[in-house]
Amino acid sequence: MHTAEQVTLARLPSGRRVETTIHRYGTGDGPTLYVQAAQHGREINGTELLRRLHDRLTAPDAADLSGTLIAVPVADPLTFDRVSYTTPEPIDSAAPNMNRCWPGDAEGSIHERMAARLWAEAGEADAIVDLHTGSPEMLTHTVYLRGDDDSRRLAEAFGTDLLLAEAAGADADDEWDTRDFDGKLRVAATREGIPSITPELGSNKQLGEAAIETGLDGLLGVCRGLGLLDGAPEPWDGTRARNHLGRVRASDSGLFVVGESVELGMAVESGAAFGTVYEPTSYEPLQEPTADRAGIVYSIAREATVTAGQTLVGIAERLPAAEQNG
Ligand SMILES: [Zn+2]
Repeated sequence: MHTAEQVTLARLPSGRRVETTIHRYGTGDGPTLYVQAAQHGREINGTELLRRLHDRLTAPDAADLSGTLIAVPVADPLTFDRVSYTTPEPIDSAAPNMNRCWPGDAEGSIHERMAARLWAEAGEADAIVDLHTGSPEMLTHTVYLRGDDDSRRLAEAFGTDLLLAEAAGADADDEWDTRDFDGKLRVAATREGIPSITPELGSNKQLGEAAIETGLDGLLGVCRGLGLLDGAPEPWDGTRARNHLGRVRASDSGLFVVGESVELGMAVESGAAFGTVYEPTSYEPLQEPTADRAGIVYSIAREATVTAGQTLVGIAERLPAAEQNG
């Protein structure tokens, strides 16, 4: 069974309504999975993979789900229309990034109201998948709250090779507070006891076939893991690492020429060389950035004009062996 409902998320100054479509599949008997895409509007691969999932679930020979799937292909139409990550200041100066204001506030700013409307669905679910995509310079991975076993199992069912465990609150680094990370949908939901994951698929702004297929396989794995579909997810055999650690930053501004052998997904030891930052007018080498720890390269600044303090290379540090098997 499938229904599609158009809902109003908020109202703009002109009176125009911000609307989106909420799809529901299944019988209602069994667990509920809430999936949304494009709360960062330029991250469109999730939107496309939900269309493909829709085609599968509504095919004439499709088995009905043992439970309910709620899917929101465009969670933030405001950023979707702008192909952007955040909204301009006049629309929401309080919360320009929708993924910093969950579970929202029905009487708050525009993004807070939008989040509150979607939370009315998500907050009742038994599991949540918030689909995002990184830049083409980022390795596909799935983030879950470190120490939350149900969310970890959900991430394993989704099945990307790299899982990043994100520390929260007092265990986290300064960035947690300064960037309002506790307002992410995944974090707010996990704290409410709803297992939640954030897959970061590849190539935002572009429809990447590999990203779409990874995400579609991932959602089918999650549906199997929750019992919405028959069968079990593929056994997971990847790497668990820590999120927001191991950022190699530019010590000065210039042009970053990445070393030839440096590529996403490679394992590096502490001290590995990543290339050179040059002063572009004098050709003077300013920095030869190196790995500050052993791990897996999961992001590389390929947009080469870099500013002091910017992350040049992200290194995911493997979790201790005890947590690899947990
Ligand atoms: Zn995002």
